[in-house]
Amino acid sequence: MPDDLLFSPDAVFLQRFLQSGGYYKGDVDGDVGPLSLAALAKFQADSTAVAGEQGSFDDRTEGNVATLLLDTQRAARRFMAAISQAGLSAGMIAKIISGTRTYDEQDEIYAQGRTMPGKIVTHARAGESNHNFGIAWDVGIFDSNGRYIDDLVDEGLMTQGAVDAEYKKVGAFGKGLGLFWGGDWGDPDYPHFQMLDNDLLATVRAKFVSGQSIV
Ligand SMILES: [Zn+2]
Repeated sequence: MPDDLLFSPDAVFLQRFLQSGGYYKGDVDGDVGPLSLAALAKFQADSTAVAGEQGSFDDRTEGNVATLLLDTQRAARRFMAAISQAGLSAGMIAKIISGTRTYDEQDEIYAQGRTMPGKIVTHARAGESNHNFGIAWDVGIFDSNGRYIDDLVDEGLMTQGAVDAEYKKVGAFGKGLGLFWGGDWGDPDYPHFQMLDNDLLATVRAKFVSGQSIV
């Protein structure tokens, strides 16, 4: 698999993703041949068209939106437009800082704070997160100097309450668009948005693995 392709080096994941998006009808065998490449090219052309219709955002957001299924891309662009228009506190901007993660990538971040250094960032193993199915993203909020506001708490420049308040504004925009927001969970995940409710996770996973359309 060429290393510049989406989700490289996980060719099986790429094929599953394209299959559940309705782009790929071949075998999920990890062998990226002409069928897979044609499916990817069509998916990326459709993605470019959606960006053209709805408008595009900063490079980081664009890189992550490109990893979402097409309907989710549309929702993510509506969401970003709503935040851009309605605004956060003065000088603050939101970016999409995470999109789809392959199963291997999910296991890597699950290891963080457990078997690997760092602090725990997820409770989900591979296949347990909506990030693994192309229908979820995380947002980050940055100040006018481009600093991630979550980091300003440690530096004493913002209170955790003030940071949470910004994420709650974004949460309200997302919910207004019909998205499911991690801030509503028992263990809140303020940056997180997804297309479907958590109680559908097993169904979504089964559809993804068998290549059926999810949303
Ligand atoms: Zn998330």
